[in-house]
Amino acid sequence: MFAVNNKTRVPIDLPLRCRCGHVQGVANEIAPSTGFRLVCYCKDCQAFARFLERPDVLDAAGGTDIFQMPTGRVKLAAGTDAVRCVQFSSKVFRWYTDCCRTPIGNIAAGPRFPLVGLIHSFMSHEADDHSRDRVLGLPLCRIFERSAVGPLPPNAAPPPSLAVFALRGSRLLGWWLRGLGRPTPFFDDFTKAPLSPPQWLTSRERKHWQSTELEDEG
Ligand SMILES: [Zn+2]
Ligand SMILES: [Zn+2]
Repeated sequence: MFAVNNKTRVPIDLPLRCRCGHVQGVANEIAPSTGFRLVCYCKDCQAFARFLERPDVLDAAGGTDIFQMPTGRVKLAAGTDAVRCVQFSSKVFRWYTDCCRTPIGNIAAGPRFPLVGLIHSFMSHEADDHSRDRVLGLPLCRIFERSAVGPLPPNAAPPPSLAVFALRGSRLLGWWLRGLGRPTPFFDDFTKAPLSPPQWLTSRERKHWQSTELEDEG
């Protein structure tokens, strides 16, 4: 089962697409070794999906399947007028499409950090999870599982180990050293202004979207 992670894959260019197809782009050089796939159970990732009214993006325990990769390898080719940004904390910009409320990905709130966490909903695989596993490898770890809203599936990604932290750290350092964080499609290269002004939620709004009881209401 874990063999899928061990094979060296030839990197591919993966089409990016929102649910309705208005926003499109491409992620270059995608392979298990050119990014870091994880499942995040944090409250803000869950709040983001609820804010977008897209609970389908989360797994049964509230996890978001994310592929962290260099920002400079992501290009948005069409529909950038519909790209929006929301913040649940001062540290993270969360990008989505306004046309069909598709989560795009998360980045640090500033143009310097060379990493985007692309969310599976924006990555156009040939439809099934199997092809996602084949292209990206299995998730290398899960994080913030204490915020999970249900039991983790038996095949859940493992908790983070020191080895996995070290692997992520070395990949991140490599991307930074090679300048792969730029150009970023989410900021103007010259003015450093975000592609769309971030919407800052009040603490009341944040609490509302972070509340797990919403799902029970219907
Ligand atoms: Zn759309
Ligand atoms: Zn998260």
